[in-house]
Amino acid sequence: MESGFLPKSVDPERAADQGLEFAGGLDPAPLGRLRELAVEHAGPISGGFVFRRDDEGRAMMVGFAEASLPLICQRCADPFLLEVRADWQRVFARSEADERELAEKGLDVCYHSGPLDVAELIEEELILALPMAPRHPEGCEPVERPAAGAHPFAGLAELLKRETRDNRN
Ligand SMILES: [Zn+2]
Repeated sequence: MESGFLPKSVDPERAADQGLEFAGGLDPAPLGRLRELAVEHAGPISGGFVFRRDDEGRAMMVGFAEASLPLICQRCADPFLLEVRADWQRVFARSEADERELAEKGLDVCYHSGPLDVAELIEEELILALPMAPRHPEGCEPVERPAAGAHPFAGLAELLKRETRDNRN
């Protein structure tokens, strides 16, 4: 397996013909969508791919990506580093009809011709792998909200009670 930096693009058909495998790092700087999610600079991103052909000669890709992303914890509202890993397998359909047929079998399929943008693909897969509400994996204290915010009329009810009592006396 070649290592170093991942190529910018890869043609799945040619890569499948050559049985190409590669793994390496990716510069997170151009990944705009991940940068928007991250609260600080994203750490190193790495990934790898294996290309081959399925029994019927379609190009297939097995890939993975790993990243450390600084995100805001949805429980305590502090930033933390989320280790995220994405694994995927994709079949390249030969026609739209082929794509429909494969999708019905529950395969992750795409109908695509020409080279794939490696950074775009990895970014998309990492975003799909993110939890809906990222939280510290080791647990943390929920952020404390001011009581007045949680029960805006609590103070008022207390005041009314006291006034009723005062009137009675
Ligand atoms: Zn937390």
